[in-house]
Amino acid sequence: MKIGVLALQGAVREHCNSLRACGVEPVEVQYMFQLSEIGGLIIPGGESTTVGKLLVRHKMLEVLTDMGRDGFPIFGTCTGLILLAKEISGSQQPRLNLMDITVERNAFGRQIASFERDLAIPEIGEADFHAIFIRAPYIVKVGAGVRVLAKIDDKILLVRQQNLLAAAFHPELTTDLRIHQYFIRICADRP
Ligand code: GLN
Repeated sequence: MKIGVLALQGAVREHCNSLRACGVEPVEVQYMFQLSEIGGLIIPGGESTTVGKLLVRHKMLEVLTDMGRDGFPIFGTCTGLILLAKEISGSQQPRLNLMDITVERNAFGRQIASFERDLAIPEIGEADFHAIFIRAPYIVKVGAGVRVLAKIDDKILLVRQQNLLAAAFHPELTTDLRIHQYFIRICADRP
């Protein structure tokens, strides 16, 4: 199985390396036709307003929304999480409009715009996951069908809604592959 990494802007190479380390061949996706070659797609960190506009320009925004509604697995990190959301606080920017979550961008504030934290994520195993946050968003509200997999206090940081997975942090910047492996299992288990 091949898994795509949306390659319009952002941390593309790091996600490709993580997928390779998991034994999966990555495809850098820039064009719509490539979406039929892959069993899932990672949307990396970057700048969500830019990536949203580029998705519109590359005619992939609506196609990906339809595919996501149809069960196609998508994993968004940081900017990817923002683009998967139905609600982005105070913003009308283009998005995929797929997950029942409300996201606050740049939500940790300027002074701690980037930081690292060990997170408990029981779904992927007992050991904490070393999470790296870069001008990260967090989720302030989730709908009934969304499972919260990690949070700090009331700040929700990792969620799953069936075929959709979203992280506020950057698992591709660590050598811990458990979240990528978890997404690969979602892709492999797709009926
Ligand atoms: N702040 C960025 C945004 O709004 C996200 C940052 C990131 O992806 N590391 O898109």
